[in-house]
Amino acid sequence: MKNKIKQIAQLVYKSKYAVVMTGAGMSVESGIPPFRGTTGIWTKYGKPKLDSFSDFKKNPTKWWDDRRNLTIDKHIIELRESLTKAKPHDGHYSLARIEKARYIKSIITQNIDGLDLVAGSKNVIEIHGNRKRLRCLECNNRIDLEEYIPIYAPDPCEFCGGTVKFDTVLFGEPIPKDIMKSSRHEIDKSDLIIAVGTSATVRPASGLLWIAKSQGAKIIEVNIEKTKLTAISDYYIKSKAKSFFVNLEDELASNSNH
Ligand SMILES: [Zn+2]
Repeated sequence: MKNKIKQIAQLVYKSKYAVVMTGAGMSVESGIPPFRGTTGIWTKYGKPKLDSFSDFKKNPTKWWDDRRNLTIDKHIIELRESLTKAKPHDGHYSLARIEKARYIKSIITQNIDGLDLVAGSKNVIEIHGNRKRLRCLECNNRIDLEEYIPIYAPDPCEFCGGTVKFDTVLFGEPIPKDIMKSSRHEIDKSDLIIAVGTSATVRPASGLLWIAKSQGAKIIEVNIEKTKLTAISDYYIKSKAKSFFVNLEDELASNSNH
């Protein structure tokens, strides 16, 4: 482990544009359950029909009412309770300091909890949205909420009159164009990707890793088990997210003094 962290630190030093990509494994250690796997909320409550976006579009008012009245799937209730309690862990703070020191240039996260921003990371692309925000479906205008649970259905967009929903990308909903574009821009610039705690199964986010690889970027996979991504990764480290970032920060800091 220690040796591998040293190797990774060397790759980070040598890179011109290192990008971190995080998945559910990063949030698990803040108490947010994943969908998949043995501790996943789909495993516990059953996998829902993955068509929540068409449900929303059919009747947005009912959709919001269901959320206020808790007439929603149990797994959603558990997820949002965990979100309201979640705080960044040491790994989020280490990652924020690694970014501040310019060792890595940006973070693309599949997580919706906004914890990277709470921890102080700056150049963060939340590819599946942020649960503390609303977004207009027409013009992508985003509105910051102070909490995860609005107590009333939002008004139509003040700029264009479009339908407003959670910024979070629902199943069946396309990734907003502005987000897809900025993610792709980061991937195109990157020569090193550190993918942490992602099972690399959710498209199109996972596809970015294959694009990066095809453009010559090195891929480092950090995960508790091997995934589809392992086959195209240049390095695999078996580690949880928190200890990985804490160890990487220590290693980068100790080398920079020499
Ligand atoms: Zn709008």
